[in-house]
Amino acid sequence: MRSRGLRLTGPRRRVVEKLLSVKGHVAADELLELLRRDRTPVSKATVYRTLALVSRSGLIDGHDFDRRKRLYEPMIGRAHHDHLYCIACGKVIEFSEEAIERLQDMVVARHRFTPVYHSHKIFGYCEECRDQVPREEPALPRPRRSGRETRSQERRP
Ligand SMILES: [Zn+2]
Ligand SMILES: [Zn+2]
Repeated sequence: MRSRGLRLTGPRRRVVEKLLSVKGHVAADELLELLRRDRTPVSKATVYRTLALVSRSGLIDGHDFDRRKRLYEPMIGRAHHDHLYCIACGKVIEFSEEAIERLQDMVVARHRFTPVYHSHKIFGYCEECRDQVPREEPALPRPRRSGRETRSQERRP
């Protein structure tokens, strides 16, 4: 496998091939587990080193959605896209929005900035996890003083 100056042989090649066979977004640990199920497992160090290497090559993209979890996805033959990340269940939803891309182009042009890469992420709750959205404590209902609850109970000395 020779791609963008990367020469991958042996275990590194197996790491990349495994990742390319996975649909969607996968963490290093999940990839390690998938490789462990193969007859020729790859060491943890090799998995991490290979991912670090190829995620700078355009072959694979790495996204930090979570402090503890970096997810990788194959980028070969795939168009640029951005992500929504559910902080409750970890689901990743891909989106591409022409209007957002255009606005970003406008922003970089305005700053005479030469963009190389961007990653747009929105963190929140997916449709299934919507009920987990923390709500603000409802304000305590005020004690009612309607006319009916008269002050008759208030006895005057
Ligand atoms: Zn969710
Ligand atoms: Zn993606």
